[in-house]
Amino acid sequence: MGVGSKHNLFVARLLALLIAAVSFVASCAVADELVDGIRRQTEAYRQKLESLARWCESQGLTEEAERTRRWLHPVLEDRLLVPILPRKMGTLEPPEGESPVRQDWYRRWAALRKEQADALFALARGAIRQGRAALALDLALAALHENPDHEGLRRLFGFQAYSGYWRTAYEVRRLRAGDVWHERFGWLPKGYVARYEQGERFYQNRWISAEEERRLRSSLQNGWVVETEHYRVLTNHSLEEGVRLAEQFERLNEVWSRLFIRFYTTDAQIRALFDLRNRPPVTNPVQHRIVLFRNREEYNAALKSRYPQVELSVGLYDGATRCCYFFAGPGFDASTAYHEATHQLFQEVGRSVPNPGFRCNYWVIEGAAMYLETLRQEGDFFVLGGIDTPRLLAARVRFLQDRFYIPLEKFCSLGMEEFQTDSRIGALYSQAAGLTQFFMHFDGGRYRDALVNFLATVYLGRDNPSSLSQLTGVRFSQLDEQYAAYMRSLPNLPMMRIEETTRESKSDLGQ
Ligand SMILES: [Zn+2]
Repeated sequence: MGVGSKHNLFVARLLALLIAAVSFVASCAVADELVDGIRRQTEAYRQKLESLARWCESQGLTEEAERTRRWLHPVLEDRLLVPILPRKMGTLEPPEGESPVRQDWYRRWAALRKEQADALFALARGAIRQGRAALALDLALAALHENPDHEGLRRLFGFQAYSGYWRTAYEVRRLRAGDVWHERFGWLPKGYVARYEQGERFYQNRWISAEEERRLRSSLQNGWVVETEHYRVLTNHSLEEGVRLAEQFERLNEVWSRLFIRFYTTDAQIRALFDLRNRPPVTNPVQHRIVLFRNREEYNAALKSRYPQVELSVGLYDGATRCCYFFAGPGFDASTAYHEATHQLFQEVGRSVPNPGFRCNYWVIEGAAMYLETLRQEGDFFVLGGIDTPRLLAARVRFLQDRFYIPLEKFCSLGMEEFQTDSRIGALYSQAAGLTQFFMHFDGGRYRDALVNFLATVYLGRDNPSSLSQLTGVRFSQLDEQYAAYMRSLPNLPMMRIEETTRESKSDLGQ
């Protein structure tokens, strides 16, 4: 990347949300009409936004000018931004109670966004016709970010309009059944809300006090069960904590399913999504199981017999019971929760073999989980990855200062046991984290699709030690060189040492 400071790193290189996809395609196709079309469209849009920003300035709307210019946000080279889609309809309606000139600005801006959304959607359909499903999806998502109320695009991503909101089929089913979503109590019959808020609880067909319920649910067998679209959380801590965790995992699920849609759908299925004559697919999502113990002591006690070293962990996914285990209170760690829940998603969505990575390629299983554990929210975006996240700092120190590196050909030959029992396990995890960042972000993301395909191959058990080289179409030795160049191109590291007792040795006891 050739940047000298952390600050410069965030300076825009290219313009639109979809450039990563574009540069990936551009790198493998010499003359490409579709990519040229996307570039032209993006540039035309940028110019229209710039004229609108100038108009704002002429009207004394400095802040609005700034916001208009910022809309085509810079692509950050080292992290992935996934737009958060608003649920409430009417994003493009001018806000009420504003001055006429501000309303005028908003209307003009909204008109440009709608026009851009239609153009991107047309390009997405063009991509589908050319059999380029991944690019089509990126374009469709960028279009939906422009116009969140575009009905065709909403349908494509599984939403339907319901009482002024965009809802999934699951949500509509619950709402029709008379439930509402309560931010503290989760899904609840509408008629219960007032009593819940006053401290009453419905328990086995009668109303009792919240304290009484706490006492009755203090053992896990009789704990609270929180159900959301993709999760079923059992906990004896509290209803509120169960709801909070389920919501957190729903966010992970949303990002994961957008990023790895190619992991669990075929090109034909994606093509079918784009055909608006089709009825929306009836989905019956898997509900992933989570257990949240009240505290660490109960977590240790319950899992000790199966995991003798459980005290060292702060959460784990158990493939045998297909369940994640965590504990509430001091010691709970959100990034570990995302890490383990990512193992669960890859394992349980799609048709995975019971022991992926057993013979070789184990690193990518950990790499993907470490990448997703960086999930955070910034403004209107979910953010993943980054060269200053703890795992990446460790990866850089180990590579640049300790000069630790196992050539990729050898690294890919490591199976689960070799990897997990290696005395240098911390350094292996660091390298896996560094490589995942590299394959996601190197050169505008040119290997991103290959990495997703690689993960799919490994989880299906159809991989071999040279799969990664085959899927990228690049020799291992060349990938080694590119990785080294990538690591060296990053801004200077702060002086630091790696604590050998970091989380990497504390999780994944069962994997
Ligand atoms: Zn792991």
